[in-house]
Amino acid sequence: MTDTIYQQLREHLHHLKLTAVADQLAPALEHAERERPGYTQFLHDLLTHEVTAVEQRRLQGRLRFAKLPARKTLEQFDFSAQPNLDRRIVADLATLRFIEEKANLLLIGPPGVGKTMLATALGHRAVEAGYRVYYTTAADLVARTAKAAIEGRWATTMRFWNGPQLLIVDELGYLPLAADAASHFFQVISRRYEHGSIVLTTNRHIADWGAIFDDTTVAAAILDRLLHHATVLSINGDSYRMRAHRDAIASLRPAITGGEFS
Ligand code: ADP
Ligand code: MG
Repeated sequence: MTDTIYQQLREHLHHLKLTAVADQLAPALEHAERERPGYTQFLHDLLTHEVTAVEQRRLQGRLRFAKLPARKTLEQFDFSAQPNLDRRIVADLATLRFIEEKANLLLIGPPGVGKTMLATALGHRAVEAGYRVYYTTAADLVARTAKAAIEGRWATTMRFWNGPQLLIVDELGYLPLAADAASHFFQVISRRYEHGSIVLTTNRHIADWGAIFDDTTVAAAILDRLLHHATVLSINGDSYRMRAHRDAIASLRPAITGGEFS
């Protein structure tokens, strides 16, 4: 018995790996029987299923690759908690023009002010817009690079750090970097210079970077490349983390003190 044209069509779809079209074929045909769309419309609607499915798969792939620590969005960011932060600058960054321009962003401030949140929210936005993004901490970046150097994978690792269109380097400065680590860090930064964007967060003001790298020459060389095309946002407000704790403590206080002092 020869295959019906419907069976052949299904085989074609599987052969071409058009799985979303294959899944939607029966309902799409039923719908077409009823609604009688034009040929072009029918084909368009059917292929749209495949395009959506492919885009969704790629988005999930980019998201997995990016290793972003948490799902944070810019809409969740409470600007009233950071009155000195210019929301127009953040809105401009959110257009992701800086990635097109291969420019950088430095987020400087004490712990808890939302540096990681802003960095990851921009990262998510970039992933959704189709950019390759990768998140790492500075400590992890230098540890992996040092390991790669020892294991003879230096070139591969450098290519890896150079791959994403946006590299997020979180928490520079919490630990000082030894001379080797500083030099590795410098090489990652200088290879990405004018090639791909970096969003870097740090608790140290630029003037103190000599202390992170234990070497003012390396610090100056790194800053030179980072700052050439960069937005620098200093966030100096109160810690949002501490604020939440303060509110929690404050709400407990009447119970603790019996309201005596309130
Ligand atoms: P940092 O990286 O500067 O130490 P985080 O980004 O980790 O700070 O922020 C600490 C916590 O407080 C996170 O859960 C973050 O989502 C939240 N947070 C910080 N600032 C804000 C803000 N302005 N609006 C909403 N949540 C915030
Ligand atoms: Mg952080």
